[in-house]
Amino acid sequence: MAEFDLMISAEEIAQKVDEVAKQISSDYEGESVVVVGVLTGAFIFTADLARALTVPVETVDFLQVSSYEGDKSTGNFIFKKDISTDISGKNVLIVEDIIDTGRTLKKLREMLLMRNPKSIKICTAFDKPSRRVNDLVPDYNCFTIPDEFIVGYGLDYDGKYRQFKDVKIVRIKDEQ
Ligand code: 5GP
Ligand code: MG
Repeated sequence: MAEFDLMISAEEIAQKVDEVAKQISSDYEGESVVVVGVLTGAFIFTADLARALTVPVETVDFLQVSSYEGDKSTGNFIFKKDISTDISGKNVLIVEDIIDTGRTLKKLREMLLMRNPKSIKICTAFDKPSRRVNDLVPDYNCFTIPDEFIVGYGLDYDGKYRQFKDVKIVRIKDEQ
């Protein structure tokens, strides 16, 4: 059984996404950007953010990464799905749902940098800095949150609850 506590409402999210999109558009003024969403969690945020940008968006592409089973401590991962866009010489904006330890984004950033983009920036919907194990800092962040497990706005628990419009803390109760 799952219990939910509202953390951030759909209205608050929409307002903040617009604000961050304005900042991004102003920072990239005179340039264009390739938006790269990290599946699956960032699918809703990527769609909202891309539509709120006023700077030219060359394309929106997606990738999916996965940690090696049983090797979570090293943060090793593989591309389950790669982007089909050639990013060399491009301004890349990685769009992520949430940054926790920072392992995924640190590694992903390194791997995309090897493709010689003009620049890489990271935009996350949610950030849990208290959980960080490295020096990764997103360039843009909508909400800094405490160490709670959240669902909704694309984020899941075991594949579920991604479609929730609000972001909620989920607490799973064992069935007796
Ligand atoms: P990390 O930064 O630790 O490498 O991994 C971040 C990933 O862990 C996110 O992309 C997400 O898949 C998952 N994650 C971390 N915290 C949460 C959370 O509170 N809720 C959900 N649904 N996923 C989370
Ligand atoms: Mg993710």
